[in-house]
Amino acid sequence: MIYIQAFKRGLKPDPALTITEWSDKYRYLAGEGAAEPGRYRSSRVPYLIEPMNELSPSSDTQEVVIIKPTQVGCTELANNFIMCIAHLYPGPCLFVLPTVDMAEDHSKTKVTPSLEHMICLKDIIKPIRSKDSNNTILRKAFPGGSWTFCGANSPTSMRSKSIRYLIMDDLDEFKKDVGGKEGGQGYSIDLFMKRTDSYGRKKKVLKISTPTVKELSNIEIEYKKSSQGKYHVPCPHCGGFQYLEWGGKDCKYGIKFTHNEDKVILDICYVCKHCGKRIDESEKSKMLENGHYVHKYPDRKIRGFKINSLYSPSGWVSWSQIATEFLDINKDREKLKVFVNTRLAETFDEGGDQPDWVFLTKRAEPYDMISIPSEVRFITMGTDTQDDRLISVIRGWGKYEQSWLVYWGELFGDPDQDEVWQQHDKLLNRAYERADGAKLYIISAAIDSGGHRTQAVYRYCRTRAPRVMCIKGASTLGKPLVNRPTAQDVTWGGQLIKGGVQLWTLGTDTAKSLIYNRLKQEDKQSAGYYHFPIGLTDEYYMQFTAEKMVTRYSSKGFPISEYIKTRHRNDVLDAEIYAYCAAIRAGMAFMDWAKEDINKNIVNLDKNRKKPVKREEPARSSFMS
Ligand SMILES: [Zn+2]
Repeated sequence: MIYIQAFKRGLKPDPALTITEWSDKYRYLAGEGAAEPGRYRSSRVPYLIEPMNELSPSSDTQEVVIIKPTQVGCTELANNFIMCIAHLYPGPCLFVLPTVDMAEDHSKTKVTPSLEHMICLKDIIKPIRSKDSNNTILRKAFPGGSWTFCGANSPTSMRSKSIRYLIMDDLDEFKKDVGGKEGGQGYSIDLFMKRTDSYGRKKKVLKISTPTVKELSNIEIEYKKSSQGKYHVPCPHCGGFQYLEWGGKDCKYGIKFTHNEDKVILDICYVCKHCGKRIDESEKSKMLENGHYVHKYPDRKIRGFKINSLYSPSGWVSWSQIATEFLDINKDREKLKVFVNTRLAETFDEGGDQPDWVFLTKRAEPYDMISIPSEVRFITMGTDTQDDRLISVIRGWGKYEQSWLVYWGELFGDPDQDEVWQQHDKLLNRAYERADGAKLYIISAAIDSGGHRTQAVYRYCRTRAPRVMCIKGASTLGKPLVNRPTAQDVTWGGQLIKGGVQLWTLGTDTAKSLIYNRLKQEDKQSAGYYHFPIGLTDEYYMQFTAEKMVTRYSSKGFPISEYIKTRHRNDVLDAEIYAYCAAIRAGMAFMDWAKEDINKNIVNLDKNRKKPVKREEPARSSFMS
């Protein structure tokens, strides 16, 4: 009887099989991708069982996120998934890799070789024939569905059909924008995700990657939204469960080893977090077998899983091999990065150049807006534009570009309306009194025209030029601080004035680098030192230091350095950059500080200052009539 049932099941597969059960029953590994050719055994990689079960149609889970090192068998997890669905739960399936070349390679070397060995798929997925468009390297059709392999770098692959199964492998190599143009088509991951919408609860999404740079890592961002599971294994001595960690020199637990002068590992073990006893690698298989995932947020619907190379099954990557690689780093930053990413499956903190905002608060000095230090020779203003406010910074400049913050504030109101600009005029045109009684006026101001209120900024700057410069930022490192202006069209009283305003492009990333270096200076007398008055809110300092530089690698391996936001608001930083660039435009870089007498300099600048000409925007009705 049992025999007959089993026989029947062999012919007609049990529809409730999980991917794990299916893999143990049907999966065969072959080709380059296979670490162990032959029948698949889930017991070899027990940490893949739970994610595979969540991907099974019997689970309600729609999204699985895996942060992984290299060489732990995750490639086969994705292949098990697509092969199982082709056999039992057919539907349209899209397998995305960072580039088309990688997609082709995956299909050719990691999927196709196994197919020939698997009877259940051999019959439904036909071998590639030259004239059959349903069976190519990038597309394989089977009854009720298909696999499409594509590259995240190809915008065309994102349009068209909806998909039920979506696999995004090597997610950290996906570019933020597709189509090359900044802000062009948005985040490619979201675009792929949209294509699964029509399948509602029946969809399954798998996101896998080795992590890369902290705060830039796509997989880390996705993992943070998930249940954040980590595979815990029991100590053979005390039974205490723990996530295996590298630990490091000063850590009481984790990997511990000794080596000789030639960096040959003499002894290695894992020290238990709970009992402190040594665990030998020979215990690993048993520990893996008895492990389970501990989820930090068990109620979250997106299921997240994390493991590192210390979990690699015996015979794959050993602890000594990992330790040898660690010794080989020898202060090489790039090697360390590779180790942290591919072995520990952690993101690498680039450190960047972000100044510490708490450190800055401690250098506040006892002066304020009504008693500007007498070292200040002239003042400039920078204004950042948002849809509902203007953020302005006024800064005084002295010998060797030392500077003192004079004012920081937000003017609320939609820049498309006049009210907020009237307040701005008050700041722009008033006199600022120095401690010695001299009156200072803003000699140069820069206003951001980026964002959604460009024309309003154009109109404001047009009547106040040349003292007020209309600017836009260009975030390319190495770009000059202030570039030659270009003429832009401005709408004026219902008419278009061709070339009616001069637009200056600022090298904002260049300015950020320069200013951030200055914020780290400790000697108050040093050139370029930034001074702050006491009484500023933490918000000011936090916004000023809201970005940091990170380096990521393009798919061709070129390093790309860029600034990223680490806090939600960064308006102060922008306004400070504009105030600095306004000073540069006023000729600060060419001032002969050594020769100039402070007071004489102020008088001269003040005399040269053009009185703002009052030129009202003509009433719209005059053009109508
Ligand atoms: Zn223990």
